[in-house]
This record gives sequence, structure tokens and C-alpha cells, in this order.
Amino acid sequence: MRIEAKELSKIYGEGERQVTALDRACLEILPGDFLSVTGPSGSGKSTLLHLLSGLESPTSGELLYDGRNIYDMTDRELSAFRRRRIGFVFQQFHLLPVLTARENILLPVLLDKKKPDEAYIDRLAELLGIRERLSHLPHELSGGQKQRVAIARALAAKPDIVFADEPTGNLDSRSGGEVMELLKRAPEETGTALMVITHDDRIASMAPGRFSIVDGILHREDGTEAEEVRR
Ligand code: ADP
Ligand code: MG
Repeated sequence: MRIEAKELSKIYGEGERQVTALDRACLEILPGDFLSVTGPSGSGKSTLLHLLSGLESPTSGELLYDGRNIYDMTDRELSAFRRRRIGFVFQQFHLLPVLTARENILLPVLLDKKKPDEAYIDRLAELLGIRERLSHLPHELSGGQKQRVAIARALAAKPDIVFADEPTGNLDSRSGGEVMELLKRAPEETGTALMVITHDDRIASMAPGRFSIVDGILHREDGTEAEEVRR
């Protein structure tokens, strides 16, 4: 698996109201990479994540997964591609309230008409400490537990990469810390790459690969000084 973003740009609006949310971002992601992206509100973090994960098409530039530009796919191909190869974790959890934790976790696999790997799901639940909670509905879970269910759901289809947008944004610092410790095991144990968007410097610094965005321009944090990643 190799993800390459080549000069990815996103421009919203027209004329005077035009906003360059992302300006020619270049980036490469390989298996097991753990990357973080920080930046002020409105700097383009979510836009980057949406473009990299096939949720929103770029105004210009290319996004290659194993050499294939995913924005050349039909909508149907692209949604199947996302279900199989990309996991998402959101600040608001986005669990379906009428489904149990287990059903939420299995949903992406079932939507793909695949037979779930029950042993793998059980192992995930064990690892995430939610085995005893699998028959509960989301409203019966704490925030930290909901997010751990969401992490299991993100990993259930054994994706190439998990994108997490402010995964600890709705959690207190203790359960946020626990959630991050669990989330960052994914690249270590399964080889799934992980990109986390966060406001929290402590979380960002857990990642070996650190990026920041200012006014739509992506920088690589090389320890001391930020350097533009444009080629
Ligand atoms: P962040 O996630 O860093 O807070 P976003 O990527 O959401 O920032 O937004 C970057 C910029 O693009 C902001 O100026 C925002 O207002 C603008 N923007 C984001 N989405 C849209 C949209 N759908 N339509 C118009 N402008 C948008
Ligand atoms: Mg955002």
C-alpha cells in the first residue's frame, strides 16, 4: 500500500468569496505510518482528510492509492473502495443509535456483503477493552467507550489506513489519552497506517510523522523548523 498526494488543492466558492482550503499539498503514506496533523481552526485540516480519504474530490491534483488515481473511479467504485480500504474515526463518534456496539462494528463489513472475521472482531474488542459492552446500545456507553467502539468499527474491515479527525475532541483528557494509546496500536500491530488530526500537541507528538497546516499550506515538522512539503 502506498498513498501519494500530488499537489492536492481544494478551492471553495467563487470570486471574492473564494477560499483556498488546501494549497498544493504533497504527501506520501506507507504501511504502518503514524502521522499527525495540527493547525488552527479553519486552516484546512478536515479538508486534507476529506481529500485523502476520498470523501471529497480535489479542485486539482492527484491522489494515488497504489498508483491509481482514486478520483478517476465512479462514485460506486469509490464508495466500495472506501469501505474496504479506509477506516474513519470522528470526533462525534457517529455510531448508529439503534444498533448495538457489535452491530455498529460489523456494519461496514456487512455493507460490503462480506462474512465478518468473528475471531478478529473478538480480538479487537478484547484489545480495546469493550468485550463486555458489545451488546450495549451507544447511549448506554461512556464517551470513551463509544470511541473505542468506533475504533473497532474503523479496523473491522482491516483497512490500509485509518483517518481520525479530532478523535479525542469530545473526551476528557484521561479517556482521550486512553483512546489514543489504543488507536496508535493499530499501526504497530496491524500495519494499518494512521493519520490523526488534532488540536492537542501531546497527541500530535505521539506520531513519528508530524505535519501542520497554516492557511491551507501543509508543512512537515522536522523537529525544529517547519518546511513546506511542496515539490
Ligand atoms: P479545519 O478542519 O482546519 O478547521 P477546514 O478544512 O474545515 O478547516 O476548512 C478550511 C477552510 O475551508 C475554512 O476557511 C473553511 O471555512 C473553508 N471550507 C471548508 N468547507 C467548506 C465548504 N463546504 N464550503 C465553503 N468553504 C468551506
Ligand atoms: Mg476540522
